[in-house]
Amino acid sequence: MNIADYKGVWVFAEQRDGHLQKVALELLGKGREIADKIGVELTAILLGDNIDEIANELVAYGADRVLYAHNPLLKHYTTDAYTKVICDLAKERKPEIILVGASFIGRDLGPRVSARLGTGLTADCTALDTEEGTNHLLMTRPAFGGNLMATIMCTEHRPQMSTVRPGVFEKLAKDTSRKGKVEKIAAKVEASDIRTKVEDVAKIAKNIADIGEAEVLVSGGRGLGDKENFGMLKELADLMGGSIAGSRAAIDSGWLDKAYQVGQTGKTVRPKIYIAVGISGAIQHLAGMQDSDFIIAINKDESAPIMQIADLGIVGDFKKIIPELIAQIKVAQAE
Ligand SMILES: Cc1cc2nc3c(=O)[nH]c(=O)nc-3n(C[C@H](O)[C@H](O)[C@H](O)COP(=O)(O)OP(=O)(O)OC[C@H]3O[C@@H](n4cnc5c(N)ncnc54)[C@H](O)[C@@H]3O)c2cc1C
Repeated sequence: MNIADYKGVWVFAEQRDGHLQKVALELLGKGREIADKIGVELTAILLGDNIDEIANELVAYGADRVLYAHNPLLKHYTTDAYTKVICDLAKERKPEIILVGASFIGRDLGPRVSARLGTGLTADCTALDTEEGTNHLLMTRPAFGGNLMATIMCTEHRPQMSTVRPGVFEKLAKDTSRKGKVEKIAAKVEASDIRTKVEDVAKIAKNIADIGEAEVLVSGGRGLGDKENFGMLKELADLMGGSIAGSRAAIDSGWLDKAYQVGQTGKTVRPKIYIAVGISGAIQHLAGMQDSDFIIAINKDESAPIMQIADLGIVGDFKKIIPELIAQIKVAQAE
């Protein structure tokens, strides 16, 4: 393999039911930065059927080129069809980097594509950069339960592949004046290529706010002591127009649904304000919230690690502090 033959950054533009997934836009944001740094084109790979309108959207979010492979058999994700189409395109066009969101679809697709292309993949990355001089992709991910950050390179094979955690990168602002080329490709797939058959896609309606979208998060940990105390946090969150969230300890105690978990094995969030209540600040928790704009920690232990990264630390019992905060906000809002 002559790695110099490979050029360009590709981002898998995951869509479901014709809706682009947020992680695809986040990857375009990061992909744009990498492509500019190494001076190559940024391409979005879109697979589906009758979704021409979202192809243009990918340009507005940063793509120089969109490879839109369409076929009725690509309407819903299947491992076989998507792997075939992406591998065929990659063999023909030789990208040097392929980024895939680490959603349940991306985590299924990424390894299949990398095995078929005979290249390296780093899963669930939380940081990406390129090495000065060589332009090799530096793929960083937590290892050993988050106690170590590993930076991995794929120096001998191309494309360099990475699945990336949703929420860690920021999407660019939508700019409809951006110029790009949409290349529509009639994808060659046959029903016989696909061994899995999608009968139906069922959605479980959960009445849960997406904590990744909230501008304010009031997050509770083991220090809350019991489920009832989340009522106080909810009241504060409602007043501030935000949502509640929790540490893994709070979720494991059964106080909150898993969808509210912040951290390495939960969600990555970057709200404007993150209020950590009774959370010690274990490294696996920090991994999910340390990029929040403003962090307030409420903890009775002033030496808790969360205090190290807090912009504002309040030492004391949350049972006294939260009701006082609620009262003060009500006064301020009434004025
Ligand atoms: C592989 C792996 C993945 C993990 N993934 C995650 C993850 O995604 N998210 C996550 O959160 N954790 C994760 N963890 C667990 C993590 O290591 C910690 O165990 C967990 O974050 C601790 O939660 P906590 O801060 O709520 O509880 P604790 O560490 O027990 O902290 C409780 C805090 O509450 C304070 N407190 C007690 N009473 C009060 C009071 N009345 N008022 C104010 N403060 C009070 C205490 O001083 C203490 O600091 C993971 C661990 C592993 C090994």
